[in-house]
Amino acid sequence: MIETLDIQITKTTQPRLQETDFDNLPFGKTFSDHMLMVDYADGEWKNFQILPYGDISLSPAISALHYGQAFFEGIKAYKHEDGKVVIFRPDKNAERFNRSAERLCMPTIPEDVFVQSIAALVDIDRGWIPTKANHALYIRPFMFATDPYLGVQASTTYKYMVLTGPVGPYFSKPLRVKIESHYTRAAQGGMGFAKAAGNYASSMMPAKKAVEEGFDQIIWTDGSNHEFIEEMGAANAMFILDGKLVTPSTGDTILKGVTRDTVIKLAQAWGIPVEERKVAVAEIIEGAKNGSLTDAFGAGTAATIAPVGSINYNGEEFTLSDPLTREFSQKVLKTLDDIRYGRTEDTYGWNYVV
Ligand SMILES: *Cc1c(COP(=O)(O)O)cnc(C)c1O
Repeated sequence: MIETLDIQITKTTQPRLQETDFDNLPFGKTFSDHMLMVDYADGEWKNFQILPYGDISLSPAISALHYGQAFFEGIKAYKHEDGKVVIFRPDKNAERFNRSAERLCMPTIPEDVFVQSIAALVDIDRGWIPTKANHALYIRPFMFATDPYLGVQASTTYKYMVLTGPVGPYFSKPLRVKIESHYTRAAQGGMGFAKAAGNYASSMMPAKKAVEEGFDQIIWTDGSNHEFIEEMGAANAMFILDGKLVTPSTGDTILKGVTRDTVIKLAQAWGIPVEERKVAVAEIIEGAKNGSLTDAFGAGTAATIAPVGSINYNGEEFTLSDPLTREFSQKVLKTLDDIRYGRTEDTYGWNYVV
């Protein structure tokens, strides 16, 4: 790590690590002892601080609350058996952080500053990184607008913050998913490709309805005709169809997932043809019917590889093969785990050592 970043560090006087139950870690509820907070004002990032995790005071007029200038990232850190701590591909999140910032008319941050600031925080709370199988330290960077001003215009001040917390597996069973044919997550020319807070706000009511109908997740389709598959909840949708890895190509409406990119790189290395293109709902349903759809999963940092158990389309249910018998996603999971937990050589250079 290059020691260029000047961060003021205030350590907690009341560490909570000892009293934390690492056998019971519902996603996103447990926070490590410290957080990072950085201010943007007068056109520059300043006042880098690592401080005890806790409440902060803000004006009720901040524009993030009124106009939604806010976005986030999701990254994971892992601890190897020898105690080495790694962050998985944070450079990719740095790139996307800035793509989100630009779309939301917010300031970018140099990629090395982003990565180093996160590494410094993870370093201080390295004791919080779980060592159990399928566990990791979840890292949540985010930025929001802080001008106390109700005029509709881009804020001139912002906060960049990072929280971390230990997590276990996100989903515990194969997912029953519904292909959405009314609501949309994103539109051409919109901000679907950004990890904008607002994208999540608009997805909640449709997701709640789907859960009430007995589904675990929504497969989002395009906003024009609901003819093409876009994403699966907050993960990228990936399929093995006729022996090829098929996934919707990214653009305005689809988030460029780091896990998606990782799965594609592994498939290419294994000589499996990869097709990034428009994926019609009809061909997935046809594949589910005739057996050429041999794998289907959501790919994301929080969910990792989340297998689809069954797909519902306009009330008709299609059950897929037992996820444990699926060759591709099982191999991806094992390979990813081996790299992240340091059980094999990191030939791709995906692990950033803290
Ligand atoms: C975060 C996210 C993903 C997954 O991206 P990763 O970089 O793999 O974590 C996919 N789709 C949406 C909408 C997301 O917000």
